This record gives sequence, structure tokens and C-alpha cells, in this order.
Amino acid sequence: MEKQLNAYFSDTYLFEAEATVIATGHDDGGEPWIAVSPNIFHPRGGGQMEDTGTVDGREVAVGRLDDGLVVLTGAGDPAVGSVVRTAVDPDTRLLHAALHTAGHLVGFLGEERGWRHSGHSHFPGQARLDFHPESVSEDLVAPQAREQVITEIQGRLEALVATKATVASSLDEAGIRTVVIGGVNAEPCGGTHVRDLGALRGTRVMEAKIKRGALKVRYEATHG
Ligand SMILES: [Zn+2]
Repeated sequence: MEKQLNAYFSDTYLFEAEATVIATGHDDGGEPWIAVSPNIFHPRGGGQMEDTGTVDGREVAVGRLDDGLVVLTGAGDPAVGSVVRTAVDPDTRLLHAALHTAGHLVGFLGEERGWRHSGHSHFPGQARLDFHPESVSEDLVAPQAREQVITEIQGRLEALVATKATVASSLDEAGIRTVVIGGVNAEPCGGTHVRDLGALRGTRVMEAKIKRGALKVRYEATHG
């Protein structure tokens, strides 16, 4: 099989591409899937929801096999070697990229306070960073104290967005991808991100609350 080139790694803003079918198969329910290269579809993973989009105008569902191959169901059953026209929904892509990038920033700002990251979700409407409560020295019980922490993080978040720092990524020989936000940090990550922090709009920390054994910091963001 031809190697799948995941184009979303290098360009968040590549919404359409002509691609070649490099593999086909059937899922557990008997539905045919195809894998294409270059692949512009981000599958669900790393806390980021999958893209939505089309192949030759037909809506597809995006999945990932255990070996990492990104597969599309709903495209019919074009044969290996066929050339197809692929497209991701730009609005969904940009929202996911904004939420994901803002998630890096909220994670960084928590770590800056000494909090230890324990999990995250960048799903629209439920985006949050989780931290280990034992790493949190601030009082988060009193509502006023909680508000104070939220206000501080919000201020730092706005200052970072105002730097309009570039977000870049690189892929090493072993296939490990590193995402670097200028002046912030570098993290291994497989998601999609905005090209620079100036693209973020409405970045807002909504809540910081210890719940079910984690400090959950809820936030939102969109793409300008
Ligand atoms: Zn990321």
C-alpha cells in the first residue's frame, strides 16, 4: 500500500484536495471504507473531534484503524488507484483548530501556575483542560477566589493571543509531530491548529472547578 500522507499535519487551511484511493476495506458493520492520500481529514483523537466532509460530493464519516490509517466511510466503493475529490467542512475545521490551539494555551497557563495536566477535551461546547487537584495551591472553594483565578488566567490568555505568535509543526523520522507555539511551548500533538494566535477570537475561560477528582478549566474559542 502507498503510504498515506496526512496533509492536515502541515496545512490546517487545506480544505480541498484531489486524492488517490490507496486502500479499501469493510468495517465491522460491513460498510465499505476507503483510505486516500493525500488525506486532509483529521480523525477523532487527542481530545479533538473528527472533521466532517465529502468525497466526490458524498458525505463521509472519518475514522481511524488501529494502525493509524485514516479511513472514510460513505464514499461508496471506488477501487484502489481511483482519483477522488475530497473536501473538509471549513467551518468545522476552523472551530476545531481554534479550540485545540486555545487548549494548548490554557494548558500552558495552568502549568505556569504549577498545576499538573491530567486530561483535556477540545470538543465544541465541552472544551476543558483537567489538572491534578493536589498540584493546585490556590483556594478554589470560595466563589470569589475562583473568580480571581479565572480572571488571572483570562488576562494571561488575552495577552498570549495578542502576541499573534506563529504556530508551527514538524514531523520527525519516527513520525512524532511536535507543535510549537512561539513564546509559549512545544508539545507532541497530532491535531490541527490555527496558523497564528491572532486568528483566535472570543477566547474565554468560563469555569475553574474541582469536580470528580480533577480541576476542570472550561474554555471556549472560535476562529476569526
Ligand atoms: Zn495540538
